[in-house]
Amino acid sequence: MTNPFHMPDPRETTPSDGVRVRYAPSPTGFLHIGGLRTALYCELFARHHRGTFILRIEDTDRSRYVEGAIEDIYRSLETCGVIPDEGIWLDRKGSVVQRGDMGPYIQSERLDRYRAYADGLVQAGKAYVCFCSAERLEKVREEQRLSGRPMMYDGACRSLTMEESAKRVEAGEAHVTRLKLPKTGDVTVSDMIRGDVTFGWSTVDDQVIMKSDGFPTYHLAATCDDHDMDITHVIRGEEWLPSTPKHAFIYQALGWDMPKFAHLPLLLNPDKSKLSKRQGDVSVKDYLDKGYLPDALVNFVALLGWNPTGDREIYTHDELAAAFDMAKVNKAGAVFNIEKLDWLNSQYLKTMPTERYLTLTHPFLGNATDDGRFADRLLLMIRDRVVKTNDVTALTAPYLKEHLEYSNVSLPWKSMDTQSTRERLIACRERIEGLDDESVGDVTTLEHDLKALIAERGWGNGDTLWPLRVALSGMEKSPGPFELIVAFGKERALRRIDDALKAL
Ligand code: GLU
Repeated sequence: MTNPFHMPDPRETTPSDGVRVRYAPSPTGFLHIGGLRTALYCELFARHHRGTFILRIEDTDRSRYVEGAIEDIYRSLETCGVIPDEGIWLDRKGSVVQRGDMGPYIQSERLDRYRAYADGLVQAGKAYVCFCSAERLEKVREEQRLSGRPMMYDGACRSLTMEESAKRVEAGEAHVTRLKLPKTGDVTVSDMIRGDVTFGWSTVDDQVIMKSDGFPTYHLAATCDDHDMDITHVIRGEEWLPSTPKHAFIYQALGWDMPKFAHLPLLLNPDKSKLSKRQGDVSVKDYLDKGYLPDALVNFVALLGWNPTGDREIYTHDELAAAFDMAKVNKAGAVFNIEKLDWLNSQYLKTMPTERYLTLTHPFLGNATDDGRFADRLLLMIRDRVVKTNDVTALTAPYLKEHLEYSNVSLPWKSMDTQSTRERLIACRERIEGLDDESVGDVTTLEHDLKALIAERGWGNGDTLWPLRVALSGMEKSPGPFELIVAFGKERALRRIDDALKAL
């Protein structure tokens, strides 16, 4: 069997397949999980084919423009290693810069082209100027709503002659430009994930392509840019599938070749409803700030709609690129399951090199201790229980207290009396005190020595190790006593046992 993860060495001169893919977000807010998934699939597809991954900004809807959104989108992508080859970047100072031969890559800087294309469509009889006021359109929609008809433009301006519209435009009358779409028959668009998808033209509205403010709509701008930038594959969310007939119409009307389309499955909540604001609206930055690792996030997002092998969950970015296959992306919606993200993140934390784990988690201890070796041992003790790096602060807090109070816990095991509990704690204390540093640093030796003590005295494991563990942790649930002693070191462990003896 061929290895799906084999990626040729980049130094080998493998020719590119000429693939050019763009991720084209609108700067209307921070980058969300769905946006990261789209960007990642674009990037994986481009990498797989040794093609070019382009970042383009679609900012023609000025009313939804959010200051700082371009910067956030870029930074979030960069942190996740989804880095464009062409288009938009941030320079060292954090300013937006553009690189590539097919720019500008920000649509508001390409307005003249869209106007020329819109005029060309009007001249060719494939689009028309519409003078209907917002009030009239509202009235038409209301009538359609009341009579249960689909709410669409009624075509009032479709039959205006070009001369008449030109005169009204000249006279300064407010207007938009609409596509003159066929009213009958159907159109079939082929999609790399869904196969052939057919739409009846009667269901497709005469789309506005130029607005009254002189800006194009997304539909015109994206189509013209995809053509002008030699985009070979348009990879985007399923919500754009119904727009594809309009885009196909523009390509045909202007005599252009169509790129290939791939519409990615919707993201769903676990109950299969469309991804809720609560989860999906959390930005990539929020996830990173919460302590999810970029690698885990990329791994998680990649599996929303595709799995390279079906029986493995952990993949590196390079493996994903090597194995990426659009034909294997699912049509059905992908469930966004936060427990899976938690699991993946904890797996990454458990399996990464120890040094890296310590470097990542150390900052979350703050100034709680200046004993670096203690900090490291503590971080290793809780490693299995850390889901996100941010959890470290709360998980380590109980072990960083200088002195413990035991008012909320029971030191004695079940109904054991205070005297017998003291006796056990004192004996354990003596045994630990007598151990050399090496033995105190080793779980197996500690377990062996303390269990030998228990056997010598004829005590039970529970009635001895319970009070010892509660004495050390101050909690009824915690790692075992041997792990705790290793993390604390002798001095801190003895201090805690002394505190417990005072409290008994
Ligand atoms: N600007 C669109 C968005 O933000 C992109 C759609 C497309 O890729 O064609 O969703």
